Amino acid sequence: MTRSDVVVVGAGVVGLSTAFHLARKGAKVDLVDAGEAGSGASRSNAGWIVPSMSEPVPSPAGLRTAAKWAWRTDGPLKVGFEPSATYVHFLARMLMASRPSAFERGLEATAALAAGAIAAFDDLERAGVSVERHADGVLLLFLDERGIEPHLRDLRSAERAGLPPAVALDAREVADLEPGVGPKVVGGILCPGDQHVDPSSLVDGLMAQCRTVGVRIRTGSPVSDLVDAGDRVRLTAGSERFEAGSLVIAAGVGSRHLAAQLGVGIPVRAGKGYGFDFLRPPVQVRHAVYLTDHKVAVTPMDRGLRIAGTMEFGSENGTVDNRRAAGIARAMPSYFSPWDAELPQPWCGLRPMSPDGLPVIGRLPTRSPVYVATGHAMLGITLGPVTGSLLSSLVLDGTHSPLLEPFRPSRFLGRRGRHPRP
Ligand SMILES: Cc1cc2nc3c(=O)[nH]c(=O)nc-3n(C[C@H](O)[C@H](O)[C@H](O)COP(=O)(O)OP(=O)(O)OC[C@H]3O[C@@H](n4cnc5c(N)ncnc54)[C@H](O)[C@@H]3O)c2cc1C
Repeated sequence: MTRSDVVVVGAGVVGLSTAFHLARKGAKVDLVDAGEAGSGASRSNAGWIVPSMSEPVPSPAGLRTAAKWAWRTDGPLKVGFEPSATYVHFLARMLMASRPSAFERGLEATAALAAGAIAAFDDLERAGVSVERHADGVLLLFLDERGIEPHLRDLRSAERAGLPPAVALDAREVADLEPGVGPKVVGGILCPGDQHVDPSSLVDGLMAQCRTVGVRIRTGSPVSDLVDAGDRVRLTAGSERFEAGSLVIAAGVGSRHLAAQLGVGIPVRAGKGYGFDFLRPPVQVRHAVYLTDHKVAVTPMDRGLRIAGTMEFGSENGTVDNRRAAGIARAMPSYFSPWDAELPQPWCGLRPMSPDGLPVIGRLPTRSPVYVATGHAMLGITLGPVTGSLLSSLVLDGTHSPLLEPFRPSRFLGRRGRHPRP
């Protein structure tokens, strides 16, 4: 039996950040993952740190996107069919969370947490975490001028996060910033305070520094047999038995199944996204760029150019829908010219999505101290480090930051502190 103060399940950016902060504060930490570190969504994403884009997915704008794209085979959104009552319940809750009042509350809570995102990355780097980070802002490109003004209004969370406000650019100003942009682009918006990373460098940097501060890491070790023993938690990871004073479930989409083993319902589902990595991109892209009309993220990294997008519900597996993935790449020639590139193999990642689009962070109603940190949706890279920092204080000394209040798991739990198993 391996004994520790805290076992963290999940070596994605949320679990790694939490384990790092716990160990840094003196706790004896074991970190276990079913696969390789970052093999959930944490290597397979666009890598943006975007406090100015704190909008939860369920939103009035999201409903309009759904109406336009949901049934197309190559669009940025798919709501698939899954014959389960809990899935239908999840979609119904998502619909309710799209009301303007719920959306505004969610935006405010997320923007407040995201206000600490850049500082949390600065803190990680100061503490020795090596990461490829770029601070050039994020540039939104538009093919239709009418989109610019509404988007500018939507980017309000930048100022709340203490970042410089987003600025509208005409086509010439866009071309000055990004000479590879084609003639169809009529304008843009620059979010100067946003940043981006190579997400794999973040995972690797966190892994290395976790080891330095003493975190014991086991990969290829799926967790099973979770037991709430009253004052301690016991579990099996791979072939090893663990016992710990506290447990943190940061297993992305898998958090739902782990919490269910303890009789708690955390209604997190997958929002699948796809991407391609061009090791020799046909144009040079300087900024992280959003192809606004097609909802595609373009990220320049030292090792090449990544494009990513789509949100697919009802498909909780690693299967790539080639038609939908290719839809992402088809957007490129409209924005960059000339764009003539052979398509590499697509990859996919599962975003952990809660029905109200907000992270789920906090203590579960178990006898022994069990915490969850998941549901970061499109913002897990942005919010992972700040989540890890705040959660480590909650686990070690019970300090519950008011910033975490809106994300309490109890918002999903029924009268008896439980929820029908998802
Ligand atoms: C296409 C795409 C683009 C994105 N772009 C951005 C972006 O630009 N900016 C941003 O902020 N966010 C972005 N995201 C979202 C971000 O990637 C996720 O929110 C984030 O990676 C979630 O991290 P996590 O640690 O919660 O989960 P994960 O990275 O999924 O990690 C969970 C880990 O738990 C492990 N696990 C699961 N079950 C078990 C078990 N039973 N036992 C042991 N281990 C288990 C898994 O193996 C996995 O390694 C994007 C996502 C996608 C898919």
